[in-house]
Amino acid sequence: MHPFSYTRVSDTREAVAAGRRGGRFIAGGTTLVDLMRETVEQPETLVDISSLPLREVTATERGGLRIGALVTMAEAAAHRKVRTLYPLVCEALELSASAQLRNMATIGGNIMQRTRCTYFRDVRADCNKREPGSGCAAREGFNRTHAILGTSDSCVATHASDVAVAFAALEARVHMLGPDGERTVAFADFLLRPGSTPNREQTVQPGELITAVEIPAFPRPLHSGYLKVRDRQSYEFALTSAAVALHVRGGVIREAKVAAGGVGTVPWKLPAVEQHLIGERPSEALWAAAAAKAVDGARPLSHNRFKVELLKRTVERQLRIVGGTK
Ligand code: SF4
Repeated sequence: MHPFSYTRVSDTREAVAAGRRGGRFIAGGTTLVDLMRETVEQPETLVDISSLPLREVTATERGGLRIGALVTMAEAAAHRKVRTLYPLVCEALELSASAQLRNMATIGGNIMQRTRCTYFRDVRADCNKREPGSGCAAREGFNRTHAILGTSDSCVATHASDVAVAFAALEARVHMLGPDGERTVAFADFLLRPGSTPNREQTVQPGELITAVEIPAFPRPLHSGYLKVRDRQSYEFALTSAAVALHVRGGVIREAKVAAGGVGTVPWKLPAVEQHLIGERPSEALWAAAAAKAVDGARPLSHNRFKVELLKRTVERQLRIVGGTK
């Protein structure tokens, strides 16, 4: 591990100032410390933000929820309001990582986490995300777990977060505080597709601090759930996943929010699936036809062609479970 300095802040303005001077924020440290040990990340200054007052879950005036950036994954998953209003978020959290990691990792850190591409974490491998312009070892390497959607010639890594898939489905917003004040970004714009600059992963500017993730209100009842398909049933990343939320009234689907994980370079919102569902009556045929649209634009690699069919089946199965025709 490379030498670094460490400072602790207790005020958000102080944090922003330290971030602007080049400090890296650290809270739970469940990603960053690993990457520092592997010398993938070599920050000169760590700014410990774990004492900042960003640990609240509060109802918004518009009927949604605002989850503070330093609420841990375990706290968010157990929170009464989150469980009542957005069980989809709780399911995604509880299927993530391990209990120990969920006790340490924060919501803000979770959506900032870096890819689990093994080549990214191997400093001997070519990786445009770690070292721009060096190449992408995964393209011609073992890419079974990599993305089939949103890829570029520069990078094919997936985004590893589960709860980010739920946030994408529910059209959450990310609140940030920076040198120029507060701003809010739609979750769909917060994480960046790799394009030709895979080293840029979020819209966060130097010194900007995530303060909260806000989930909007939806018509009730909102039936929802998260399905994660993986190689083993514990402490494993998704091969595919589906976050589904449906509002059905009078036997007709009025709202449909759907996103997929494990397949995209960012959590993959599925507007074509949503549009196919809205205004229709739940049926087996509807789930299958809608799920077929989940793979529009898929570009599988040499070892992950199976994800195309698996994604269709994952989305179809979760639509059936949430839609109540199973
Ligand atoms: Fe690096 Fe992305 Fe290629 Fe993985 S897929 S080796 S993260 S450039």
